[in-house]
Amino acid sequence: MSKRLVVALSGGVGGAKLALGLSRILPADDLLVVANTGDDFEHLGLNISPDIDTLTYALAGLDNPATGWGRRDETWSFMDSIGALGGEDWFRLGDRDLALHVERTRRLRSGQTLSEVTADICRRLGIGARVVPMSDDRVRTRVRSETGWIDFQDYFVRQQCRPVVHALTFDGVTLARPHDDIMAALRSGDVRAVIVCPSNPFISVEPILAIPGIREAIAGSGAPVVAVSPIIGGQAVKGPTAKMMRELGLEASAAGVAARYGDLLDGYIIDHADADGVAAIGARVTIANTLMTSLEDREMLARVTLGAADALASRR
Ligand code: GDP
Repeated sequence: MSKRLVVALSGGVGGAKLALGLSRILPADDLLVVANTGDDFEHLGLNISPDIDTLTYALAGLDNPATGWGRRDETWSFMDSIGALGGEDWFRLGDRDLALHVERTRRLRSGQTLSEVTADICRRLGIGARVVPMSDDRVRTRVRSETGWIDFQDYFVRQQCRPVVHALTFDGVTLARPHDDIMAALRSGDVRAVIVCPSNPFISVEPILAIPGIREAIAGSGAPVVAVSPIIGGQAVKGPTAKMMRELGLEASAAGVAARYGDLLDGYIIDHADADGVAAIGARVTIANTLMTSLEDREMLARVTLGAADALASRR
């Protein structure tokens, strides 16, 4: 019997694109998407989980293709009004999006866990695949810049990634417990592949890998681990991945990302634009079109990634 489960580690924008591709080529029960929650924060009295939300909207077909985050067909009356009152309007919350944060906050306050809230909202929005937060415990990414430690969303949104990053930390991570479904899946003996989505390694994937037990469970799962490079032609498609790599003294390249993941990876998918750097990569490399513009691109890259994992498994 061939193995069934695909476990995908994901941040927001880049991760959600591949997660959508995977969700369209796999039976719903076979896909477990592990979402980073290091970006989560409390704002305007609300609990906001940006990566879970980006994944949820993408998998439900409600995402905003122009921004990569938030909902499509959005209106901004709330933001305009709060700005006019002198309130905080640096983190953009659209009117439709706001409903999700209000409802999540209400349920968390009534005692539900983040994973319970996420599962129910996904179900209500018609999502078949499971989306699970890396942990129900609180983990908060913080960034050290020239001016000292700052909260992640202050760095990412308020200051639009301008500060130079010297170091990152994930507050609370040493005490955080991985979500049971993640550990159960990784220990099931039924994992076909662990996919590291083309997400920012430092702020999307490493918080997940830093949860005690997850890295070991991935290694112990017996499944091939395949990452897709978030760097294409030496540049991030969106966001600060390449800038952060340079600031942290790493080579901003597809090979640099593979080096950062080190022996976690068995396979690595890079773009044709980066084919020159193959020799520097330890994992088995597959060259593909990795820029996901259309739905077909997402499905194709999901097929290529699973194909690479299956080829690795067959050699074992
Ligand atoms: P965030 O949490 O919203 O920043 O989202 P992620 O960490 O999941 O995604 C950010 C990364 O996705 C960046 O490094 C981008 O370069 C990468 N990315 C975005 N779109 C694409 C794409 O179409 N292909 C690839 N290979 N990477 C992408």
